[in-house]
Amino acid sequence: MKAVIYTGDRRISIHDRPKPVILHPTDAIVRVLHTTICGTDLHILQGHVPTCTPGRILGHEGVGMIDSLGADVTNFTVGQIVVISCITSCGTCYYCRRKMPSQCETGGWILGNKIDGTQAEYVRIPHATLSLHVLPESIDQKVAVTLSDTVPTSYECGILNGDIQPGSTVAIIGTGPIGLTILQMARKLFSPSVTAVVGRTHPRLETAMSMGADHTFSVLDGQDTAIASALSVTQERGFDVVIEAVGTPESFEIAQALVGAGGTIASLGVFGESCELHLEKLWNRNICLRTRLIDAVSTPDILKMVNTGSIDPHFLISHNFSFDDIHNAYEAFEEPSKHGTLKVTITMPEIVMNGFS
Ligand SMILES: [Zn+2]
Ligand SMILES: [Zn+2]
Repeated sequence: MKAVIYTGDRRISIHDRPKPVILHPTDAIVRVLHTTICGTDLHILQGHVPTCTPGRILGHEGVGMIDSLGADVTNFTVGQIVVISCITSCGTCYYCRRKMPSQCETGGWILGNKIDGTQAEYVRIPHATLSLHVLPESIDQKVAVTLSDTVPTSYECGILNGDIQPGSTVAIIGTGPIGLTILQMARKLFSPSVTAVVGRTHPRLETAMSMGADHTFSVLDGQDTAIASALSVTQERGFDVVIEAVGTPESFEIAQALVGAGGTIASLGVFGESCELHLEKLWNRNICLRTRLIDAVSTPDILKMVNTGSIDPHFLISHNFSFDDIHNAYEAFEEPSKHGTLKVTITMPEIVMNGFS
């Protein structure tokens, strides 16, 4: 089978690899139909993820068809279309039983990291019982690649960790796929009184406005100007909820400057360096700071919300590529401002068997 391999020198290449086989009775083999690229894959290419070693098949997101099942996997049947969760969950370890599969002792984020991932024609999914979800026919299969990671991450690490209440004032820092998904979810599910989005480039901020943001601010106008302008829409009180979806010292500075007394910072950026925490300003402000790696425990709820139309992730899919064109998909994803990229979908070739397609 064809697979995208991390070469270790900031590049990917497509190689032929043997089709994976069931190693444990709790495994499933899934034929990948559609996959996508994540910001985390770019962190791997930059060498920021030491657990991912050269030779690894990348990818932790995708939609596929059950190809074969281990003897212990009884909740799926061969041929079913499934969403592959980016988090592998055993369901029984110390952390899984505390509703934290992100920290699962034999799972967590392992696909395309510690074991081979989804940017291939087939993938082996350990602990398949809890790590796959049947995709309702009414949900577009390409759009559903966003349900592996982007949408549940936005919900769990942003919306739920931010503790948004109806009427809250909400600031979102970041206009990538996650920031924009959080904006849509905040508006559609929680009726905030104010939504403000802090970003960089104007096309993305215009997208945020078209999605209903009440205010947008660009750090290109100067970080202090962006902060002062954002605070002015809260009568200088600061925001009840600040969701930081970038992961840099600058974005964390802005988050701390924007949070109001009694407010919550939900920080979900992937940080590659340390940041300053301004307790000299925040110690007496009753704030809450939360971090989280997606646990993917909300995926069943997310599937229902998408199915009923209460949220709609279609807007995330900006480009579609065939698997043979995956180098261009990586290029488009690495340079979003040049290509206008949000999420790319990568569609696998039809498999031809015995002359029949
Ligand atoms: Zn991802
Ligand atoms: Zn576990």
